[in-house]
Amino acid sequence: MARIRVAVNGFGTIGKRVAEAILKQPDMELVGVVKTKPDYVAKYAVSSGIPLYAPSDRLGAFKEKGIQVEGSLEDLLKKVDVVVDATPGGVGKEYKPIYERFGVKAIFQGGEKPEVAEVSFNTLCNYEEALGKKSVRVVSCNTTGLLRSICSLSKVAKIKKVRATIVRRASDPKEVKRGPINAIVPNPAKLPSHHAVDVKTVLPSLDIATTAVVVPTTLMHVHIVFAELEEGVTRDDVVSILEQTPRILLADAGLGLASTADLVEYARDLGRKRYDIPELVIWLDSVTVLGGREVVWMQAVHQESIVVPENIDAIRAVMEAAKSAEETIRITDRTLGLMNGRVP
Ligand code: NAD
Repeated sequence: MARIRVAVNGFGTIGKRVAEAILKQPDMELVGVVKTKPDYVAKYAVSSGIPLYAPSDRLGAFKEKGIQVEGSLEDLLKKVDVVVDATPGGVGKEYKPIYERFGVKAIFQGGEKPEVAEVSFNTLCNYEEALGKKSVRVVSCNTTGLLRSICSLSKVAKIKKVRATIVRRASDPKEVKRGPINAIVPNPAKLPSHHAVDVKTVLPSLDIATTAVVVPTTLMHVHIVFAELEEGVTRDDVVSILEQTPRILLADAGLGLASTADLVEYARDLGRKRYDIPELVIWLDSVTVLGGREVVWMQAVHQESIVVPENIDAIRAVMEAAKSAEETIRITDRTLGLMNGRVP
């Protein structure tokens, strides 16, 4: 079968990771990436053998800097089946009409409003809803983390309601202009935070409320989650389902994986490129069942990489190249070296 021809528009934090993940897929071809700035990242793409394109009004800027481009965004769109839009939040919607004009299916990111796409997406929760769609929105990093654990837990018992607090990283490591550098900021002070709203774009009937604060760190987000269930469960039931769920890692704080810094150090020890942790990490020690029907846990989300596997699955979904979540997860997780179960 012919490989799926894919373009990536935007080669920043998410775009470069998704592009490199596409290169590892046996059923996909990365035809090119689009960058607006002729900077060191553009040179990195070219030196990695990734065909580089630019918006037509930016071609001159690349020429001036002596960086080789293969053509314009429009030239690239003529050659592909799917585009992954990884432009900054809110910019993707500006490109939507162009993708439609070229008859190219589009995968958008969580920084876009849900209306940008036909469906908001998480592989473990609603893969089948994205099959054959023209456009799909992979929800944000925090929402992806919440959905992975919630959809896993929903396999042991029906969930009555979820209450969670999101402790957000202030910025990605490369962002030098964002703060806070010495404060904890309610985000926002008025409840709920947008995360609950975003979870409901995938699970509309779930009773969920979230609060959030931003803290001065760049490594990862942390969530503290309380879920009330319709039926009684044991801690073993919960741990067992989390252990079996792909893309969820159970970390033992008692063995030293006691903070986001320890998790990042572990990813470095594993030789993970850019210390990426696309798995959702749940602290095993934190998993508690209160009164039989309330489950509590703490989880860590590596914002820069957690959405990468879902982007790959979304490409297969829109092209109907994998008929089920299990089928795409098998390929994505093997090729990206994703783990599940207990670590280390
Ligand atoms: P980024 O700023 O790191 O990268 C954006 C890329 O798009 C850069 O290469 C930039 O040069 C390019 N760009 C800027 N304007 C453009 C334009 N008009 N046309 C084409 N390209 C343009 O952003 P990011 O962090 O990778 O975020 C991309 C999307 O992913 C956003 O929707 C964001 O909300 C979402 N997201 C980000 C994170 C994260 O933590 N960084 C996590 C999950 C989802």
